[in-house]
Amino acid sequence: MKRYLLCLALALSALFLLGFPGDGPLLTAEPGGRAVAVVPPESAAERIQRLLAEQRAADSRPTETATSAVPAVAPSEAQTVAVTETAVTETVVTEAVADAFRAELVWDGQPRTTRVPVLMYHYLSVPPADANIYRKDLSVSPDLFARQLERIQAEGYTTISLYDLLAHLWQGAPLPAKPVVLTFDDGYRDNYTNAFPLLRERGMRATIFVVTDFMDEERPDYLTWAMAREMLAAGISIESHGRNHISLKNRDRDYLVWQALGSLETIEFELGVRPRFVSYPAGEFDDGTIEVFQSANYWAGLTTIQGATHSTDNPFRLHRVRIRGSTEPDELVRLLALDW
Ligand SMILES: [Zn+2]
Repeated sequence: MKRYLLCLALALSALFLLGFPGDGPLLTAEPGGRAVAVVPPESAAERIQRLLAEQRAADSRPTETATSAVPAVAPSEAQTVAVTETAVTETVVTEAVADAFRAELVWDGQPRTTRVPVLMYHYLSVPPADANIYRKDLSVSPDLFARQLERIQAEGYTTISLYDLLAHLWQGAPLPAKPVVLTFDDGYRDNYTNAFPLLRERGMRATIFVVTDFMDEERPDYLTWAMAREMLAAGISIESHGRNHISLKNRDRDYLVWQALGSLETIEFELGVRPRFVSYPAGEFDDGTIEVFQSANYWAGLTTIQGATHSTDNPFRLHRVRIRGSTEPDELVRLLALDW
């Protein structure tokens, strides 16, 4: 009898320790048909619940509290300058930077339309000799990029951040005469080694959309978190391109929540700044994608739809201008001036 009770106690302990069979569904993803990434179900669910609760709490906070701590419009031009300077001097992501980016930005209800070209880059390097046509098309050489930046400045354009663009769209914050936004998709390491020095020496802003699992896996072709922190401190925004570059179109809600909050939480944990923008991997999205990213408190989504006109109607369908390996400065100037 004693032995029977001992066996029963051991079996029950094992069940508690190892989990009961059929304990909730596993969230899985299959990146490009490769190994299946399994997320421990309980920690993922708990994390999502906690983040949603935190965001709801942040949303319901009275505006008085928010404005007393940080300005309602984030980050204003002056604020951005101040924040960038602080960060550069200290070379760390200070609490001030985090607060500035976290400050709530809400639409004041005024319909607005604005034309601001948002340039879309990928690789910033000379492609390898055996590169296929797509890689070549997606690669801008550092030499060409330097000439593009020189021309952008010579033509009187000023690089602004996506935060500046949203502050203008939603709050009417002023923009420079010829604003332009530079974005990089995928977070390739050459963005740090080649693009960053050229941007920094000219004091130009840019946004990099990173794939957080690739960085966590320390893939050699992608940025490290240390590189991302250094660039953030110098005024480069780091935003979400999802967890693993899998299409966000035709996906169920749980999967989209996993992508939206998973990438958000990783970036916030690593950099101390919550991302507010998503660039849809492969440019693929649908209404379900927008709904989930919006509810996860993202502010806007970047598409690959060509154009430069944005309106308050739908910040989750921001248009961009594709820059190719063959886009010479003259062609870039033509694209920048297009009314589309
Ligand atoms: Zn991409």
